[in-house]
Amino acid sequence: MNRRAFLTTTAAATMAVSIKAVSAASVTPFGQTGAPTAATAPLPLGPLPGSRYPDSHLESAKKGPPTFGPADFPAFAGTMAVERVATGFRWAEGPVYFPAGRYVLFSDIPNNRIMRFSEDDGHCSVYRQPSMNSNGNTIDREGRLITCEHSGRRVTRTELDGSITVIADKYNGKKLNSPNDAVVTSDGAIWFTDPAYGIGGFYEGIKADQEQEKHNVYRVDPKSGDVKVVVDDFVEPNGIALSPDEKKLYVIDTGFTDGPDNPSHIRVFDLDAAAGKVSNSKVFAEMPKPSITDGLRTDRDGRVWCSVGWGDPNEDGVRCYTADGKLLGKIHIPETVANLCFGGQQRNRLYICGSSSLYAVYTGVQGSMKP
Ligand code: MG
Repeated sequence: MNRRAFLTTTAAATMAVSIKAVSAASVTPFGQTGAPTAATAPLPLGPLPGSRYPDSHLESAKKGPPTFGPADFPAFAGTMAVERVATGFRWAEGPVYFPAGRYVLFSDIPNNRIMRFSEDDGHCSVYRQPSMNSNGNTIDREGRLITCEHSGRRVTRTELDGSITVIADKYNGKKLNSPNDAVVTSDGAIWFTDPAYGIGGFYEGIKADQEQEKHNVYRVDPKSGDVKVVVDDFVEPNGIALSPDEKKLYVIDTGFTDGPDNPSHIRVFDLDAAAGKVSNSKVFAEMPKPSITDGLRTDRDGRVWCSVGWGDPNEDGVRCYTADGKLLGKIHIPETVANLCFGGQQRNRLYICGSSSLYAVYTGVQGSMKP
């Protein structure tokens, strides 16, 4: 092939690729073109395939014919369906909803970015890159973003002017392991978990030696900024959430990832937020091993909603429990689920980070105002 023919052929090939990319991009809001995904073909957006009211992805724990009323599974009505609202991520986790802007921020950890899904027009774009392999995100009482960073090995706050303040990066003079998830109590204290997942390799962070021997739950004092250990007997503390009255603190242990005899469950503590202490540790809910739960949120009535994944695909999705630990129902998602948050103008839309995609479903409840 001579140079002219080569250039012509190359240009045509390039144009074909460009047209394909534009064409693909034109039918999906985000990520189908060039963005890496676990799937070989783009995953379709919208209601999940096969959805028909009542959506079979919503399963009540009560056996027998579904009634979809308050006597059955109070979380759902008959005309709600699970939708995939964005896709094209390597590993989505750590969603948080910003009511003032009507958007969800969530981490795409291996791609080192935080994404923003705008619920008014379904637009999804990059909010921050690099994100220091951010993982869990939450919002404080002043509407500021709180972020746990794997490669930063720190917890940060994004101020209202966009600048970033380091909230915690050390304990006892040594680096934290890799903060994973956080929650903020009404007094402004930030409570976060610090397992070692983010320093185990170069995919979701930067491989490094563990400086904190234990994988602790910490509290950052809102006035002094002091970082103190709250609980030190977790194998791998992970998702963390408050009950709506702030009298309970829920913390997940995903220690099962380190060994089959380790926990795969949610623990609940009595919380004395003013004293910065917890007590009376109990197992709230056991997960069906080998599945684990990674993240959780509560609704306004105190129910607990948690992710499920990594085990039996039939368990992939979300579980909903009463405040005393009784399983009410499941939301089946066709991917491993990491974390979730309530959003929407009525706070009744559940956003679900499931591996390569962001899913959403309206519920019959409202999320807690203690995200
Ligand atoms: Mg987590």
